[in-house]
Amino acid sequence: MSFNLHQPPAYRYSGPIFDAHCHFSTPEATERMIRAGELYGVTRWVGICRVEEVPAFRERFGRRAAFTIWLDHRLPADAPGFVKTQLDIVRQTLEIGGRCIKFWYKPEYNQRSGLFFDHPRLDPVFRAIEEAGLPVLVHIADPDVWWRNRYSDPAKFEAKRFTYRQLTNTLERFSRLSVLVAHLGGWPENLPFLTDLLNRYPNCHLDTSGTKWIARELSAKPAEARDFIIRYADRLLFGSDLVAWDHADFEHHCSRYWVHRHLYERNERVPSPIEDPDADGPVQVVGLDLPDSVLQRLYLENARRFFRLE
Ligand SMILES: [Zn+2]
Repeated sequence: MSFNLHQPPAYRYSGPIFDAHCHFSTPEATERMIRAGELYGVTRWVGICRVEEVPAFRERFGRRAAFTIWLDHRLPADAPGFVKTQLDIVRQTLEIGGRCIKFWYKPEYNQRSGLFFDHPRLDPVFRAIEEAGLPVLVHIADPDVWWRNRYSDPAKFEAKRFTYRQLTNTLERFSRLSVLVAHLGGWPENLPFLTDLLNRYPNCHLDTSGTKWIARELSAKPAEARDFIIRYADRLLFGSDLVAWDHADFEHHCSRYWVHRHLYERNERVPSPIEDPDADGPVQVVGLDLPDSVLQRLYLENARRFFRLE
């Protein structure tokens, strides 16, 4: 099968689509990502960027762009100004109309910084975010296969299941804080775990970002994946995790949107147009044929509500 990624097939859903998780970079590279998305029906991008970058993106992309703002993960966690720096970012985010705060607490960061998502040092930061009425986006975990290669040293890295206590402790302690957990919570391999997480924590939401990973894992168990998405249709937000790299061309961006829309809307099994180094072999993307009412929430309504976008 060959793909013409410049010509999307006819999709069932024809309403607006918000990409709840992507990364802005230079204006030119971001423009390329946005043009690809427009071809695939995306009308709004909640892009992750630094707070000082917002005015330039806003000027260029207008209402198409909304913003999730990075905290400073470069600063050593025990530096004297660590908390103040993060608090300043929260305040600036509010002033400039950013919609969400991004935490990057994956194993690599935990190991480098010694800081976890439930550390008491972050309490004033969470309190300020809660007070500001902003939600947060957090990346907690990576694919299971990464635990078998990159994170296999137990002296350096926690076990995957154990590392989730940093998320659940915070969900529990800051129960008014809306939390979006990236990459289907970081555990698309384990839908029973996510079921339990969503049942226990009403303030927890998941995005579907991370195209290769999500397509690989959901296609491996389509019936279970379909049931899960329908059941939690109010708590799931469509996201691509596209990064507007300078070297990412238009086709690269198209291929990600192509896979997402196929996965949610179509009903046939096709070879993925994306090479997946984490897979055992070539990946087949299985269309989950989700009901229209679910697509409407996944693509649009949940993001509108979560980020308070009019
Ligand atoms: Zn991301």
